[in-house]
Amino acid sequence: MSLALRLPPDIPLTLVSDSLEPKDDKTWCLWDKRVIPSPDLIHHTWNCLKVIGPDGEAIRSRLSQHAYYCIRSERFQQYGLDKLSNRPQTRLIEARVNEIEPGKNTAVLHHTSGSTHADMVFQSHRPPPNTHLYSEQRIALKQHFQGWDIKTVQPVFDPDEAILMDFRVDQSLGFAFVYVLPFSTTEALVELTFFTPDLLDNRAMYSNLLTAYLSTQFLLEPDSYSIKRTEFGVIPMVDGFVPSPSEHPIYSIGLAGGHAKASTGYAFSRIMRDSMRIGAELSRGVIPGRGSLSEIRYQFYDLLILQLIKNEPDRAVDIFTTLFRKNGFDTMFRFLDEQTSFSEDLQIMASVPRYSDFFRSMWRTRHRLASLSVRG
Ligand SMILES: Cc1cc2nc3c(=O)[nH]c(=O)nc-3n(C[C@H](O)[C@H](O)[C@H](O)COP(=O)(O)OP(=O)(O)OC[C@H]3O[C@@H](n4cnc5c(N)ncnc54)[C@H](O)[C@@H]3O)c2cc1C
Repeated sequence: MSLALRLPPDIPLTLVSDSLEPKDDKTWCLWDKRVIPSPDLIHHTWNCLKVIGPDGEAIRSRLSQHAYYCIRSERFQQYGLDKLSNRPQTRLIEARVNEIEPGKNTAVLHHTSGSTHADMVFQSHRPPPNTHLYSEQRIALKQHFQGWDIKTVQPVFDPDEAILMDFRVDQSLGFAFVYVLPFSTTEALVELTFFTPDLLDNRAMYSNLLTAYLSTQFLLEPDSYSIKRTEFGVIPMVDGFVPSPSEHPIYSIGLAGGHAKASTGYAFSRIMRDSMRIGAELSRGVIPGRGSLSEIRYQFYDLLILQLIKNEPDRAVDIFTTLFRKNGFDTMFRFLDEQTSFSEDLQIMASVPRYSDFFRSMWRTRHRLASLSVRG
């Protein structure tokens, strides 16, 4: 959908999706307003953010160069459908894609409503092959999370301040934090997030940990709030991520195109930027290139951070907290958006306590360095 919104209007478009019904199943957060197709899509904005260390130390900041924005998937999809309904030469097909058959200069999409021929296919439904994702050499973690939209009886939240990471959760199951997005004094999305190789054994474990968090940190017992909605997700965090092949006339986009940032799982802005790039290339009559892989130095930092999270999760918690305390949120957002200069990167690295840890991590990842890919 994000790409469909960015295509030049003179290009005929067929969108095939297994569901054209807008779904309220994802809450996307980002800090780069320029990639949001319309300000009407913004559900809430926070100018103050907080990271809380395992010992309760709160690092808070009023953002000056950014803000933290939240978009709900239902509104985004409805907006997209409304736009596409007025777009010339546009067909929407609700069907499940079974196969994409490549031809020399065209491709055929075989789906449950028939077949569609196209000059180019942009696919976001097919995950990269498992062999790429989880070969032994790779550091392959998953960001897995369960969030609850809750409504409390009493006012407890500050709708001007979101908690980006609260590390006051049991770290014995791996690197974990809670994310709190307050929409009013009585409404918030509270999301328990893990960066670990495997999911928890069952969904009840996420629920129990969320219940315990709300009780301990907000003194909210289950009878003092209601759960209005649940969201659950898994995002790949893999070093040197190899997306499923993108070769004319079939291109992989979205998570299938490898656009999640390896060390954080943030993907929304990157997917939006990639859609804008493809749209601009097609407007100029250019066949889209391979796209916006991270610059090699950022792939390297992602590799170091993944290595730390996997092998020394306690140190990683310490490092994340320190990075925000010493560098501030605006600088960290530019770093995570891969917009910092090399000298800023060095300052950021040097801000970490015992930054020799990074060099130890570098040594441990030496077998992976050769595989970092140069931007295409
Ligand atoms: C719950 C959740 C919250 C997230 N929050 C954030 C966030 O805050 N910030 C951030 O940066 N990233 C976030 N992400 C990560 C990422 O931004 C999203 O996963 C994003 O939706 C990925 O876009 P996509 O186009 O790759 O996949 P999707 O949005 O999943 O789109 C794929 C589409 O393909 C359709 N489809 C699937 N299979 C078929 C088939 N066989 N035939 C036809 N259609 C099919 C699906 O119905 C879907 O509409 C989140 C992910 C999840 C799951």
